[in-house]
Amino acid sequence: MFEKALPLLESHFGYNAFRKGQEQAIRSVLTGENTICVMPTGGGKSICYQIPALILPGTTIVISPLISLMKDQVDALIQVGIPATFINSSLSFKEANERIRAAKQGKYKLLYIAPERLESYEFLEDLNGMEIPLVAVDEAHCISQWGHDFRPSYRHIQQMINNLPERPNVLALTATATPRVRADICHLLNIDENNTIITGFERENLSFSVIKGQDRVKYLQAYLKKNEKEAGIIYAATRKNVDQLYERLRKENINVARYHAGMGDVDRAREQERFLEDKASVMVATSAFGMGIDKSNIRYVLHFQMPKNMESYYQEAGRAGRDGLESECILLYSPQDVQVQRFLIDQSSDRGRITQELEKLQQMVDYCHTESCLQEFILKYFGEIETDTCNRCGNCLDSRTSIDVTKEAQMVMSCVIRMGQRFGKNITAQVLTGSKNKKVTEMGFNRLTTYGILKDQGAKEVSDFIEFLISQELIAIEQGQFPTIYVSPKGKDILLGHEPVYRREAVKVKEVSKNDP
Ligand code: ADP
Repeated sequence: MFEKALPLLESHFGYNAFRKGQEQAIRSVLTGENTICVMPTGGGKSICYQIPALILPGTTIVISPLISLMKDQVDALIQVGIPATFINSSLSFKEANERIRAAKQGKYKLLYIAPERLESYEFLEDLNGMEIPLVAVDEAHCISQWGHDFRPSYRHIQQMINNLPERPNVLALTATATPRVRADICHLLNIDENNTIITGFERENLSFSVIKGQDRVKYLQAYLKKNEKEAGIIYAATRKNVDQLYERLRKENINVARYHAGMGDVDRAREQERFLEDKASVMVATSAFGMGIDKSNIRYVLHFQMPKNMESYYQEAGRAGRDGLESECILLYSPQDVQVQRFLIDQSSDRGRITQELEKLQQMVDYCHTESCLQEFILKYFGEIETDTCNRCGNCLDSRTSIDVTKEAQMVMSCVIRMGQRFGKNITAQVLTGSKNKKVTEMGFNRLTTYGILKDQGAKEVSDFIEFLISQELIAIEQGQFPTIYVSPKGKDILLGHEPVYRREAVKVKEVSKNDP
């Protein structure tokens, strides 16, 4: 059956070759295997089920949480002569029924549905009346509690499949899956983990960098000035941050649009349109913006604050450069971002997931403090084994010299041990810098031999150095309401003098602007 695939790619989509992973995925589906396909955003996942849908008899069901995107996808298919439709909450009862009737008559090759539909018993009955050879589960990480966007309605997929008179094939697709999430998807959708198709997460045209210790507003102003002709997205952590930045940039006559979930539907649609149609060059937004946005010429994605985890970061940053041209992904880091994200996690996560969310947050913080290749850090995070340095990220291009900080690291770790390994990073920094803070004296930490041994430095600097030691896995964190730090086995090796620790010469932390939203 596979021999039909390439001619269909050419005749319907106008492409003359499959991309990495597409051919494998299509072959796997056509041989009747349940399959999981992990490809970065823009990698071309849709083709992996659209081509099989054309080859297989009956109607392929596509489950997607992106209601706003469904119509565009279906319109695009109809335009190239592929009969397709969607059913979601945007339709009237009558429209939905008409489409279901037509689907039962086999009028469509693809039927897109929102996962919530699967909660309706009537709808499951309707599906029983259709010939369904393949169920494509888009954004499959939504099925996993370990993913960053868990949707309970995805849990009905397996039940739907079990209900069908003939067992269809399953193709799960996702761009953001850690090994744990992948295993979960396979388990929940009955996919043999050997049928995993994972293509390079590396985006060769993106260069990553983390900017620390700079006045963010000034940095942004200078950056926008330098890139005023280019399209870019600025992500901020909260709606308030977005509004403030938006007003600020507007006053500076920058052609800016904004987007967050607190705005009305009409406003949001208008702002999105302005950006997509190049009427506004800069979009300032919360993470609510971007799902399913197909704008290929985004030259930079700048995070004004650190996001909550690496999945969100790579997904958002990955919206840059979908046209394959060189683009930048910049993260402006400040230690206070960690507090904001901790607060947001505390507000929004259910109790059982908080520890896990905090661990993910810590990996995000580690990304901000690593001195190794940033692209490689990301690839490793997503489970790629054979990785190499990118030679284009901020760290690969950093020409500062590395200095031996073994002694300093030993001082910090020895202090952590003397404090009983059950206190947080900030109080440890205070003890090391000889603070007269009440808690420090009350606990008797001023009598430790390590009290004040780094007093020539500021508590902030030392705190930053501890973050660096955490990113090097020499110090570890025990998550909880009050995270505490302890020395890891690797750190103990350093304490025993078995290995040296190097760090790039520190950049002096400048005062953060008062206008920093
Ligand atoms: P994803 O769902 O993985 O984010 P899409 O399926 O939306 O990606 O594809 C991204 C872009 O790549 C689309 O514009 C699509 O038409 C294009 N594309 C997909 N497959 C190919 C191919 N084999 N050759 C050229 N372009 C392709």
